[in-house]
Formats: sequence, C-alpha cells, structure tokens
Amino acid sequence: MNRIWNETMECMSRDDMRKLQGIRLRKAVERVYNCCEPYRKRMQEKGVEPGDIKSIDDIVKLPFTSKKDLRDYYPFGLLCSPMTDIVRLQASSGTTGKPIVVGYTRGDLDIWGEVGARCFTAYGIQKQDVVQISYGYGLFTGGLGAHCAVETIGGTVLPMSSGNTEKQIMLMHDFGAVGLACTPSYALYLAEALHNSPYPRDEFKLKIGAFGAEPWTEGMRKDLEEKLNIKAYDIYGLTEIIGPGVGYECEFQHGTHLCEDHFYPEIIDPETGEPLPPGQLGELVFSTITKEGMPLLRFRTRDLTSLNYEKCECGRTAVRMGKILGRSDDMLIIRGVNVFPSQVESVICELPQLEPHYLLLVDRVNNLDTFEIQVEVKEEFYSDEVAKMLDIRKRIVHRLQSVLGISPDVRLVEPRSIERSQGKAKRVIDKRKFQ
Ligand code: ADP
Ligand code: ZN
Repeated sequence: MNRIWNETMECMSRDDMRKLQGIRLRKAVERVYNCCEPYRKRMQEKGVEPGDIKSIDDIVKLPFTSKKDLRDYYPFGLLCSPMTDIVRLQASSGTTGKPIVVGYTRGDLDIWGEVGARCFTAYGIQKQDVVQISYGYGLFTGGLGAHCAVETIGGTVLPMSSGNTEKQIMLMHDFGAVGLACTPSYALYLAEALHNSPYPRDEFKLKIGAFGAEPWTEGMRKDLEEKLNIKAYDIYGLTEIIGPGVGYECEFQHGTHLCEDHFYPEIIDPETGEPLPPGQLGELVFSTITKEGMPLLRFRTRDLTSLNYEKCECGRTAVRMGKILGRSDDMLIIRGVNVFPSQVESVICELPQLEPHYLLLVDRVNNLDTFEIQVEVKEEFYSDEVAKMLDIRKRIVHRLQSVLGISPDVRLVEPRSIERSQGKAKRVIDKRKFQ
C-alpha cells in the first residue's frame, strides 16, 4: 500500500524545499503587502519591503502576527482577496476568547483537501474505506477539514459530526467504518460507548483513528489503541493556518510531519521572539506561503513544541514536530511552579488503576493556591475499602510530586462521574481567574 500522497512534496530534498519555500514566500509577501493595509503598515514600520525578501532565510525580517491581530481586524480586515473570491468562512472554536474568522478562496480549499489527503493517506486510508468524521461540523474546522481530506482521497465520508453517541456506534458498526476522526477525548467517550453497546468488537471494522484538535499524550494513545483495538494517529492543525491537515503522523510515529511546502514553520523563544535552533522546545510560528484568502505571515501559534529536520524512516523529508506540550496559555502557574495538564495526563495514564478521565481544579484561598486533581478509578479497582483507595492515592500523589514538583490534593472519584467531552475536553477549572 502506498502511504505517500504527494511524493514530490513530502520527500523533496531539503535544499529544493528551501528554494521552493523562498519562491513561495516572496509571492506571499508581495500579496499581503499589496492587498492588505495592516500588513503593509507593519512592514513599513519595521522598514521591510517585499524586495528585501530574497530567500526563505529572510523570513526573520518580517514582523510577527498574533491572535490579537486577528481580533483587532475582526472580522475581515486581514483578508487579501475580495469577497467575490471568498467561498467559505470558518471560525475558531473560541477555546480562548472571541472567535477568530478566516476566509478561504477556492484555491485555499484545494490546498486544504491536498494537505488533508496527505494525512489520511499516511494513516492508511484508501478509496474503499468508510471514514466516520465525528469532529463537530460547522464553524469549527475539524469536521469540514477532515471531510474534504477523505473526499480528496476518494474514500467514503460518513459525516456524523459530534454528539449522539449511541447512533455513532450503531452506524460505525452497520456501515463498517474503517477510520474514525475526532478529538482524542471524544474517542475515549466513543470507546466507552462501544464497550457498553450490544455489538461484539469483532463485528466492527474500525482500525484507524485520526485524532487531534487538542493535546494528547503517548499514554492516552496507548489507552485508546487498546480500548478501540486500532492504531491511533495524530492530526494537527489550527483554524488560522487552514484547519486540520497542517501536520500528520506517518506509520513510524516519530513526530508529526508538517506540510511545510504550504506552511513554513519556525520555533522561537516565546519571551524574546528570537528563532531557536532545531530540536529546541519553543513556540511554533507558521507562515502560510500559498494561501490566498487570508495568508498569515509569522503567525505565533502559542503551541509549544520542537522541530526535527532529519529524514524519517518512512522516506519523507518533511520536517517533524514533537508532540505539542500545550499552548503557552494552557500552562498553569501554581505556587510558583509551571504545570501543564499534559504532564498530569501522562502520570494518570501510567497507572493501571486509573481511567484517563480527570479534572484539574485550581483556586486561591487565603492568598495560597490550592490544586486538586479529580481522577476516575477503573471499575475493577474501585472499592469501598478505604485502605485500598488510600494505597492508589498514595501512588499517584507520589508520581505527580516527582513529575510536577508540587503535591496536588488527589480525589479519586467513581467510574463515569466526570463529564465526558464530545469535542475539545475542558480539563482545567482555574477559579483564580475570576477573583
Ligand atoms: P481554538 O483556538 O479555538 O481551540 P482551533 O480549533 O483552531 O481553535 O485550535 C487549534 C489549536 O488546537 C492548536 O493551536 C493546538 O493548540 C490545538 N491542537 C490542534 N491539533 C492538535 C494536536 N494534534 N495536538 C495537540 N494540540 C492540537
Ligand atoms: Zn515519517
């Protein structure tokens, strides 16, 4: 089975790729300079003109863009195409504040289909396969993004959207879905529903999961693969850049390949904005070098990761990024210590007595931060015997203490007591924000 959709682009030599990126960047810079007032002003303030951009190395001369710019020029101030050429609007799910609107031309939708096809081909989806899309459809890019990816390959789309969990399982069974695309947290919910359904596992054809839109750990991958009896792949993307399809895992799963012929990545120090060398952890920045409707140059994603430029075992040369540690704004500072929810998840997934359903509750009482973690205990370990529960609790507190450097209060809760998510999970309640 050929798992590479576009060999020319995915396996291009590094030198050729940089040349291509340079050519495309030059065109993109001219476009934003000529078609978009805010960009032109920003570049003039920095003293840069389109002619100064000769190769991809010159990208560092350009100013950054951020989520704030998208809000300041809400809704259409950053469009570079006239409305007559815009054929679709999408908006971010608003995890962090007011929605962000993006506009696509027909050419942009083709790019989206192309990069999406690279992802699902890498996962092993073929023309004859039914793929159940259980990302939400609508303004959120998840549903429609995965949808056009599978259609581009010529696979069979089952456009379920999220919710209606029992029906999801019934159709997954009856229609013989081979692929499932949704958030990892919804996949966890579906796994539970599948387990409790009247259908035996061997009547399902499901074998491939395409999970993304939120951070998830290796532990979560293992858990999902076991529960659903599938291979689970990462899909990465963000509305501002295009939606899901910016990056994907190949069968070797040593990082997420980026579609760098369309979206040029950099890693910068989030404090100083200085570029960091390959391999270092920092903030991911993207420039869309082929998009027409709303190109973004040096867009600061706030996602924290690192890049690896070595050729992959799969034959692709496309750069790989490490798992996203989280967004810089997901980081909690509790009693002066930096805590990422993904660190908590990795500890929870290590312990066989726990389910990866958890909640982080942070508050401030008498000027002191309080930090509680609620986590579900697996049915077979949940017990009325205090000693048994205390023993499990002691283990998790010990591990969390060594990984996080602080001791949370851990509350073990009954199986199925934490609310399930059908989209992006909300696992943090930080009451300090309302004080
Ligand atoms: P919102 O910002 O409202 O959540 P998006 O749906 O555009 O809107 O979310 C994009 C963000 O979701 C990314 O910047 C990243 O933080 C997160 N994300 C998307 N895919 C992944 C993934 N595979 N792994 C980790 N985080 C992801
Ligand atoms: Zn690879």
